[in-house]
Order: sequence, then structure tokens, then C-alpha cells
Amino acid sequence: MVIQNPAMPALADSPTIRAMLVAENPAPALAAADAAQAAAASPFAAPRIRQLGAAFFADLNPTPLAAPHWIAHDHCTAQALQLPAGWHQDDAWLQTLSGNPGLPVHPLATVYSGHQFGVWAGQLGDGRAILLGERAGLEVQLKGAGPTPFSRRADGRAVLRSSVREFLASQAMRGLGIPTTSALCLTGSPSTVWREQAETAAVVTRVAPSFIRFGHFEHFAAKGETASLQQLADFMVAHYYPTCLGASESPYLALLRAVTQRSAELVALWQSVGFCHGVLNTDNMSILGLTLDYGPFQFLDAFDPAHICNHSDTQGRYAFNRQPGVVYWNLFCLGQALLPLIDDHDATVAVLETFKPAYAQAFDRAMARKLGFAAADPALTPLHTRALELLAGQRVDFTLFWRRVSQRAAGAEDSTQRVQDLFVDPGAALAWLDDFDRAHAQLPALSQAPQMLRTNPAVVLRNHLGELAIRAAQSGDFTPLAQLQSALDTPFDEPLANPHFTALPPDWAQGIEISCSS
Ligand code: AMP
Ligand code: MG
Repeated sequence: MVIQNPAMPALADSPTIRAMLVAENPAPALAAADAAQAAAASPFAAPRIRQLGAAFFADLNPTPLAAPHWIAHDHCTAQALQLPAGWHQDDAWLQTLSGNPGLPVHPLATVYSGHQFGVWAGQLGDGRAILLGERAGLEVQLKGAGPTPFSRRADGRAVLRSSVREFLASQAMRGLGIPTTSALCLTGSPSTVWREQAETAAVVTRVAPSFIRFGHFEHFAAKGETASLQQLADFMVAHYYPTCLGASESPYLALLRAVTQRSAELVALWQSVGFCHGVLNTDNMSILGLTLDYGPFQFLDAFDPAHICNHSDTQGRYAFNRQPGVVYWNLFCLGQALLPLIDDHDATVAVLETFKPAYAQAFDRAMARKLGFAAADPALTPLHTRALELLAGQRVDFTLFWRRVSQRAAGAEDSTQRVQDLFVDPGAALAWLDDFDRAHAQLPALSQAPQMLRTNPAVVLRNHLGELAIRAAQSGDFTPLAQLQSALDTPFDEPLANPHFTALPPDWAQGIEISCSS
């Protein structure tokens, strides 16, 4: 049975499973980690995914990294992990979280496949991510800790630049209340990593309940390994989607339904804050509906719905306004992968089609909140549609617009003028503000205008803010990074000590090019 993916306008035809070629590229076996050592007083439990068996991962140790040092850490993630006090001053933790021998761990790298830029890419896998174990029900993973059997001739490393971006983006998303993987800490090393030029290495310790991706399912489906596929789906349901077991339908169909719903909600939240992921390949799609794999992402400055943030995305497949369509397309790949288990083509397609109303509802809800309403209402759709049209037409700064409207709703002085100042045509802004006021007058039961300051952030991780923190970090000064991290942690508070975090981007921000190179 083949599910025909929905068409992506102006792009090559969507592939079907028939066109999929699994790269038969067996990875070299690495020596197993020393199990006896791992058993001795590890701060981590063996990851549950280990129970699935050897088809799902490779045992390996991280590659040591010379002279590591701490760069940043996040208390909130440390708390979630219930780490011992003082961990971030302890050399054993520094070494362990940089990939060096230290505390006993249970390291492994998982195998997955995926569609990249709409084309089946065959086997990929954790090419530079190594799972150390679990703690408090959360997986702890190093990104940039050296090659794995899935590195495909790449070096397994990550540079400081991209690691700072991943660390900060994880903070930013959590601050905004958008589901995401977390970043516990960032460590650096003087070791050279070659990209377009010589850079230095860094390691981000990432944390999530699970790092399983759509691509893990696609991997076993494409190889025709239905028993493994079922094992993976059963594992996911048992540990992460237990309610699917009590459903009146097949647990696999229920799983697809739940992932569809979560993915729709996630992408709606991205659209509501102007977040562009940049590489929405199926291997970067979390089965838990988390924002995953921060690479060439961007929070929009001036609102351009067709904005392409990834310099490598020459066709604009992952342009901002294409994200909902791409997530829908990616879900079809997941549906295709689960089809051997669900064994009902029409039911699978019907579940996939729930994406459209789920997305529309989630987006309306998110936009209603941005507009200062407790819930969506049909009367609000024209109001937010018109706002986005105005912002696009006049290339208005997305974050500043919503923040200034929020300040106005909270009764701030001169605030109507400050909204109008963002527009080339202030009259159009005034007309929209009249409609906004009228909507609040007409829907008093839903109106909670002062709440807008808790919904529309003062600070987002704009490219140039990240860039300033990166440049300072590259010269050994981690203070700007810490200051930005702290502002992103509480993005609804005005960063009084750092007013430039809320300013319009400088001219040079437009020249920043972010590509897949990281
Ligand atoms: P990404 O575009 O970051 O989602 O990565 C796609 C695939 O390439 C994944 O399998 C990654 O693990 C792998 N990959 C990316 N960068 C590296 C690297 N420097 N070394 C090894 N594998 C990498
Ligand atoms: Mg990835």
C-alpha cells in the first residue's frame, strides 16, 4: 500500500515508498563500552531504548576532547534532571559532558533514516549525537562528541558557533512555552574543527524524554523490517503514549493521531512567534512533537512570510510560510512508515487529514492569545489575518509589533504612536488598531488585553543577538551569552539592563548567512 504524499507546490513530485532506496552502508562496528564500568555508580540509568536491541543502536564511547571548559549551563534543566548540587563546578561532570572519561555512562548512538529536502536520503543516524543514559525519565545526549558509525565521513564534531545557537535556542523556546528539547550545558575546547574555516569545537548536552524522530520509523519501514518497526512503535506507545493502548482503534493509528495533533500544535506555535526551523527534514521531526535539531533556524525580524532562513535551502522548501505544509508532508512519511502496522490505508489517510483542522485550530488559538483573548473566536480570524497582511506588506518587525500592541493594551503612554512608528503607512496601522479595539469591546467575556504582555515576548533570539554572543564567546568572553540566556529565559520581562535585546536589528543583521554547516 502506498500513501501518496500531498503535493508541495512548485517542487519536485513527492516520493513514494517505492522510490525509496535504503543506502546499504553498514557502519563499522565499534568496541562495546565497558559495561562493568558503566554499572559502577553511574549518575545515569541505562537508556530504556537499549531494551530494543542491537538493531536500533551502536555501542560506542565519545571521542575525547582536549582541555574542555565550561561555557554555559541551565539551572532549570539541571533541576529537571535532579543533578547533584555543584555539578557545574565538578571536573568529573565537565569531562563527562565533554565526552571524556569521567563518570560512568551508557553511551550509544541510534540509527535512523529520513527524507531530506523532500528526497529519500537513506540511512542517516546519530552522526554526532551520543546518548549517555537517562536520569529522572529524561535522555541525556551529547551533541558534537565525535564520530559514530552513522557519521557518513563527517567528523562528528560541532563548532562553538552552532553550539551557542542550539544552546540559546533551546532556552528561548522553553522561555516562550513552546515544546522543545532542552540544553543542560555547553562546553568548549581549543581543539580545531574545520568547516569553511578553522573553528573551535564545542559540545551541547541535550535533554529530552526521547530523541526518537520520524526517521527512526522510516528506517525500519524502508528496510521492510516490520518486526523491528513494531518493536519501536510498541516501545513508543508503552513509554510515551500510553493512552494509545486504551484507544478504541489500533494503538499504531492512535499513535499517528497523537503525533499528528502534537505536530500541528507545535508548528502553529512556531508560526505564532515567527520561528523558522530551517531544516524540516523528517529526521529532524520529533515523535514527541518537540522542536528538535536547531541548525539554521531564525526568529524573523521584519515579517516576510516567504522568508528562507537556511542559506542552503535554495528552493525555499522550508520557507517560513511553508512550514505547516511541510510538517503535514512529513507526517505522511510517518504514516507511510506506520502503514504496515496499521494495515488500513484509508484510516491512515483519514488520521493524517486531521492535521489540517488541528493546525487551523491551534493557529487560531495561538493568534487569539496574541491578540489578548482567552480563546479563539471566528470574529478574530480576520483580525489576525489582516495584521499579518499588514506586517508582510510593510515589512514590519514581527516581535516589536506584537509587543507594542501589547504595551498599548496595557495602557502604556504614547503607545498608539509607537505602534504606528513601525509602519511606512501609519494610517493602515491606526485602522487596524481601531478594529482591534472594537474586537475587545465586542467580545468582553474573552478579552484579557493586559495578558498580552505575557503572551507576546519582549525578547526573541534574533540572529544578530546570537551572533553578538557567539563573537564574544569566540574571544573567550561568555558574559554576553549569559546575559542573553537570562533574557531568553524570561522573554516576557523587559530586559532592563540590556535594552538592545528589544531594539530593531542593526543593518548588518540582514547580511548574516546561516547554512547547514555547523
Ligand atoms: P542535520 O542536517 O544536522 O539534521 O544532520 C543530518 C545528518 O547528518 C544527521 O544524521 C546528523 O547526525 C549528520 N551530521 C551532521 N553534521 C555532522 C557532523 N559534523 N558529523 C557527523 N554527522 C553529522
Ligand atoms: Mg538532524
